[in-house]
Amino acid sequence: MIVFSSRVLQGGAFVPAALSLEGGLIVGVERVGAAPDGALDLGDHLVTPAFVNAHTHLPMVAFRGLSDAATMAGNVVEDLFFRLERHLTAEDVRAFTRIGAYESLLAGVGTVWEHYYHGAALAEGLRDVGLGGVVAPTLQDLDGPGRDACEAQLEATLALDADADLAAAGVVAALGPHATDTVSDALWRRVARLAADRALPVHAHVAQSIEEVERSFARHGRSPVARLAAVDVLDAAPAMLLVHALFCGDADRALLDPARHVLGFCPSSQMQYAFPADVPAWRAAGLRVALGTDCAASNDGMSVQGELELLAGAAAWSTTFGPAAARLARGGTLDDARRVQAHRARRHAADAWAPAALLDAVWSTPGGLHPRHRVGILEAGARADLAVWDADHPALWPAADPLRALALAHAPPALHAMVLGGRVVGTPGDLVGSVRRSAAYAAALDEARGRRHHLLRRAGLAHLGDRS
Ligand SMILES: [Zn+2]
Repeated sequence: MIVFSSRVLQGGAFVPAALSLEGGLIVGVERVGAAPDGALDLGDHLVTPAFVNAHTHLPMVAFRGLSDAATMAGNVVEDLFFRLERHLTAEDVRAFTRIGAYESLLAGVGTVWEHYYHGAALAEGLRDVGLGGVVAPTLQDLDGPGRDACEAQLEATLALDADADLAAAGVVAALGPHATDTVSDALWRRVARLAADRALPVHAHVAQSIEEVERSFARHGRSPVARLAAVDVLDAAPAMLLVHALFCGDADRALLDPARHVLGFCPSSQMQYAFPADVPAWRAAGLRVALGTDCAASNDGMSVQGELELLAGAAAWSTTFGPAAARLARGGTLDDARRVQAHRARRHAADAWAPAALLDAVWSTPGGLHPRHRVGILEAGARADLAVWDADHPALWPAADPLRALALAHAPPALHAMVLGGRVVGTPGDLVGSVRRSAAYAAALDEARGRRHHLLRRAGLAHLGDRS
């Protein structure tokens, strides 16, 4: 298939081009002024890479809305999610994954970096819908609902990595040690060796809760990141996505290599279950950021594009809660107000983001982390995952700076079409309607609904299921 538009994203600019798609990949990019014969002519719609959601747990869409202020006050992962996850079956995971995959593709996402239990079933759920994924079956050997299945999930990881059919469908593997406190030194070292031997990225939660940090100091006498260095995983893994990293100091960041180690930043989720990571400190250390939504139980949406404005604005709150603002609150003088403004000016000069740099966090940064699943860029050899945008949609119009509009406007309603693995999803111009009316979606929804009902009953949480 050949896809043409007069506005295809190439090297940071929108230019007339034709993309040749074959075998799920982009095999050629030609700068031509008009649609070649037989091409899918998209007129002047904007053609960009589909987004990459660098950290999520799609099956947890079934838990959306179950958390409340009381559960979020403590450790929601241990207090609520683990309780539900002990009762999950592989069939549940596959069914819930499909709904999360539909939500993702309707938000312009082509690849999700997944991390969850029953990894093989999750991979099948992605393939059922046609969404790409880097699946890390959750590895835990010390604690957590996956502890007894650790060896099986490690085998599932290697089986996923060896599965050529799944890879052709856009689903590949990563190594997924859960977190520093649920994984032993021995397992971390094993992960490090496998990562090096198989050129697999490592995807882990790091320093995501105070309990994890307390356990790290109590058991190992060092911070979670220092422990990762001590068990050799930082040096061995060709790429590592460190998700959340909330409790990190400059000494931790100094242990990381900007070429290989990327911060997984999930601002909406972090604001609910904890607090946003100090992104400016990571940037100051030269480290890159990949954006994720985390799960629907702590977000509650799956639009990674919507996280971009929180990335852009992360540093702005430092003025609100900074020392100058505290002084203004106490004193209230004109000089105090000017100090607040001076803080804002300094912060803006240090932390402003260009739209293209923001979009790197959902395109090229996560899209370049897996050596066998290159996405987030429109060039030969990359996967043919395209998002097609209607710049005349009121959500984007007038799109005078299209990259800024895609980074900071509420873009998903302006999706004209999605192409995943070289295949057009639904009907261009009626993406949402055509997917929602499909028999496949109706069947997926029906199964997920039934499985959610039974899961909540098994976990003794039926009372949380419907509080309308
Ligand atoms: Zn997570």
